[in-house]
Amino acid sequence: MATFEQHLVADLHGVGQRLSERLARLGVRTFRDLLLYLPLRYQDRTQITPLAQLRPGTEALIEGQIADAEIHHGRRRILRVLVADGTQVQLLLLFFHFSPAQAQRMKPATQIRAYGEVRFGFGALEMIHPEYELNPAPLPPPETAHLTPIYPTAEGLTQAMWRALTDQVLEQLAQQPDSDWLKAYLPSTLPALGSNAALRWLHRPPAGTDLESLRSRQHPVCRRLAGEELFAHQLALRQLRHERRQAKAPPLVGDGSLVNALHAALPFTLTAAQQQVLVEIAEDLAQPRPMMRLLQGDVGSGKTIVAALAALQAVESGYQVALMAPTELLAEQHRRHLAQWLNPLNVELAWLCGRHKGRERARILECIASGAAAVVVGTHALFQEEVEFATLGLVIIDEQHRFGVHQRQRLRAKRDHGVETAHLLIMTATPIPRSLAMVAYADLDLSVIDTLPPGRQPVTTVALPDIRRAEVIERVRTACASGRQAYWVCTLIDESETLQCQAAEATAAELAAYLPELHIALIHGRIKPAQREALMASFAAGDCELLVATTVIEVGVDVPNASLMIIENPERLGLAQLHQLRGRVGRGAEKSYCVLLYHPPLSATAAERLRILRAEHSGFTIADADLRLRGAGEVLGTRQAGALQLRLADPMRDQDLVAHTRQHAGTLLREHPQAAAALIQRWLGLTDHRSLV
Ligand code: ADP
Ligand code: MG
Repeated sequence: MATFEQHLVADLHGVGQRLSERLARLGVRTFRDLLLYLPLRYQDRTQITPLAQLRPGTEALIEGQIADAEIHHGRRRILRVLVADGTQVQLLLLFFHFSPAQAQRMKPATQIRAYGEVRFGFGALEMIHPEYELNPAPLPPPETAHLTPIYPTAEGLTQAMWRALTDQVLEQLAQQPDSDWLKAYLPSTLPALGSNAALRWLHRPPAGTDLESLRSRQHPVCRRLAGEELFAHQLALRQLRHERRQAKAPPLVGDGSLVNALHAALPFTLTAAQQQVLVEIAEDLAQPRPMMRLLQGDVGSGKTIVAALAALQAVESGYQVALMAPTELLAEQHRRHLAQWLNPLNVELAWLCGRHKGRERARILECIASGAAAVVVGTHALFQEEVEFATLGLVIIDEQHRFGVHQRQRLRAKRDHGVETAHLLIMTATPIPRSLAMVAYADLDLSVIDTLPPGRQPVTTVALPDIRRAEVIERVRTACASGRQAYWVCTLIDESETLQCQAAEATAAELAAYLPELHIALIHGRIKPAQREALMASFAAGDCELLVATTVIEVGVDVPNASLMIIENPERLGLAQLHQLRGRVGRGAEKSYCVLLYHPPLSATAAERLRILRAEHSGFTIADADLRLRGAGEVLGTRQAGALQLRLADPMRDQDLVAHTRQHAGTLLREHPQAAAALIQRWLGLTDHRSLV
């Protein structure tokens, strides 16, 4: 039987097919989804503000008599209603859209109540299109009144609809059992309040609640729920970890044959940090239980070779390896790098992406299923049901921040059919600040490559306004004339892919006109993968000197000879992304430069971002700054489905709660396994779990 939270909103009064589809698009399908779809802000419609006390720029509820109403016939018809309340000030209500009947009813001396934003008009205070009511019923007494929630919404869903829906569910929620068992595990300063009561409170805060403490989520009830949410995450990750620890995995001891051969073939020696990390991984792989390791290393720190050596240890032991990347472009690059290392060792490499269709796909799947392919590189396509491995021993995921708890759980679920669980290595170049890692990756062991390969010099970064574009183009000319290569990155985010590609095309054409002596390649999302790969290969081979690209190259290219990067409109990108982009240069022995060609005027935050980027070179420092400037959701890529989704808590702001929940999660789990499962279910919506103990 479905629990209360699993009831469908489609069954609520007034929800038809269309409405339920619209809600589903916002991720609202069940009562749980609706309850956790929290108000963005609140309005205080519980008390009437005398007209004399109105402050422009604020929203207010007012009440008075209509002193005058007239339709003004100018270029545009306007209904002007003047309201008086006995104070010295009168207020003008303006309506641009109105029916004749509506105007008719605005008779002088009629009592009117209105809610809207107050502004300065011509010599008077005014409200434009306020919500209003004529001859209103008396306001409810303050004891029963509550603030009006404003929900984040989408087209076709009005606030009135949200209120009607939440009213129904909140009323039913009030009938559900509610207990304050969590109180014992939360900081003692937080109020005693059941989980359901706290949720009801957040949807309908009582009159008089301080709006500012709601906005900043500092109100004790907000903190009470944030603590609960953080507990849910800690518990879920602990559970994942616990289950994986129970599972059996093949010990991939290896005989060193392939690993040693690759070591011998490398044109460089591994850094101490790489060697250390490899020791940690090798030890984990040799265990009969699955490795769960997160490998953090700044851009260019050399994670790929670490992945390759780990993969060979698995192959030596007779097992297959799956390496997953977030984009086809990155998968392509991994395939290229791995091919260069694995082909001489006769290790069979396959790759699978969304674009492999029909016959070709069937052939690849067969190769994977038969075990003929020892190492398989791919995108999310590797997650799909139809992909069956003969003997999967190790899964490597690159750029992990896009794989959230749900994906990690799915990875596990998938292998539950088999007897053994594969080892898991997750690699990321987005350093995760500690406060965040404690929430998002509590289920993983951590390895860090904290040094770059020798000979790398920090990339000198300058910011120039775009009026100096011609100068920058000359700089590209000089660099390329002396045998170096350059990137020119066009940014146009939040616009359609078509627009991005057009912008890149226009820039490439412009640069070609100024720099006729250069071979210029252009890469963007619309260029077919095969062609893109050919272009990248020609850039890597030095056949063209300048690569014009959209941000698709962010994770895509490794060309040590490229020592100059121009980023147009860097103010449009986040710090982490800029750092990733810049990491494409400074990979060789040559001194490298990055020019941030910005369009003035810069907002304060954008200026701060560029300043940080010029001053800092460590991805960790930059990540911390990024977290401060943008908040946790953005840093982890919350918009990607499945990534850490915190509805209320903020690991940075609520650091004390993070530490607290980490400390007490174990006890809670022991003492309240059932209730803990319910918490996870509520906040993460993870349905597939067994007993937690
Ligand atoms: P990332 O960690 O960003 O994935 P890569 O694995 O792409 O970095 O490595 C960046 C570049 O550094 C590659 O060209 C790689 O071959 C090279 N590299 C890796 N390790 C070393 C090393 N120890 N010494 C010199 N170059 C190295
Ligand atoms: Mg990489």
